[in-house]
Amino acid sequence: MAKFVIKLEREKCIGCGSCAAVCPVNWELKDDGKAMPINTELEDLGCNQTAVEICPARCIHIQPAP
Ligand code: SF4
Repeated sequence: MAKFVIKLEREKCIGCGSCAAVCPVNWELKDDGKAMPINTELEDLGCNQTAVEICPARCIHIQPAP
């Protein structure tokens, strides 16, 4: 049962790769140069919280699961 959901405002992503650098287990850059989470439903935040904090575009959001 997921406790958190990742919301990515992908249009704001500048493709810096920071999320993938700090949280490679769940973040990758796609061929268009923008990030994508591998899993959007999480049981634990883990390094995803670091990705939120390090993202210079502030486009990664984590919300409680509905
Ligand atoms: S850290 Fe933010 S701006 Fe940089 S690639 Fe990841 S989502 Fe995009």
